[in-house]
Amino acid sequence: MKSILKLTGLLILIAGLYSSAFAITWYPKEFTCPIDNQKNTFLVVGSYGSYIYSYPSKYQWLFFPQTATPTYYLCKKCHLVTYMWDFDKLPKEKLPAIRKALTDVKVSKKFKKYTEIPVSERLEIMEKVYKVLDKDEDWWETFHRVKGYHYGKESKPKKAAEAREKSLKMIQTELRKEKSNAPKKLLLYVSASMKHFLNDDKGAIEDLQKALKTIYAERGLDAEKLKNAEQGMNSRIEDYIKRIKSDKKPRMMDKIDGDADSHDDH
Ligand SMILES: [Zn+2]
Repeated sequence: MKSILKLTGLLILIAGLYSSAFAITWYPKEFTCPIDNQKNTFLVVGSYGSYIYSYPSKYQWLFFPQTATPTYYLCKKCHLVTYMWDFDKLPKEKLPAIRKALTDVKVSKKFKKYTEIPVSERLEIMEKVYKVLDKDEDWWETFHRVKGYHYGKESKPKKAAEAREKSLKMIQTELRKEKSNAPKKLLLYVSASMKHFLNDDKGAIEDLQKALKTIYAERGLDAEKLKNAEQGMNSRIEDYIKRIKSDKKPRMMDKIDGDADSHDDH
């Protein structure tokens, strides 16, 4: 579970870094589509700070830029959709298969700026594209969670639940593995988060209690970093339990643009 692992670094990072008070900024940049050489103007990230790790999307273990709408690039001609960091880095040998996957793809309306097309619609196309890219389970688990997040934000609860159920199933499979590379404490947090967003608060709290008792373990981290990760996770878990029991439940962020990340004007 690599992308879950990748986040450990930031857990450690956030311990003392809440100082920066700048907004997320974007600026336009021209990209050439690898499929049809169409020129597109997409947004690239100018700046952001560690404050993104305290945004409410943490309750789905998702962080900027996956929570942001400009992150999903869409070619105006062939309708290729990728994460922004993949658009000009697609493996050449995969281009014919991607082209084929895009054959019947349409978008719901004409657009000038790619951000006019809802993220959920872009994610549906993206799913077709990445199906031919040999992504692992970990990648797909995160993808379904991302999909759940954006469907939630767009007030499409049924689609959001479908995506979150897929994510939860994959997390549970990973939890059952005896040898997982992902820290079990983190897997339990993610499992709890999906259960909470699927209205299973009892299951969510059980997972969180279990997570509190699970020592943070990860290969390659020294004692100091492990200690920081342990403390960082514990305070997140305690906060999550408190929030589930409160009248400000994390899942209420669905339908609300809770993160300050939708600077779509360009
Ligand atoms: Zn294109």
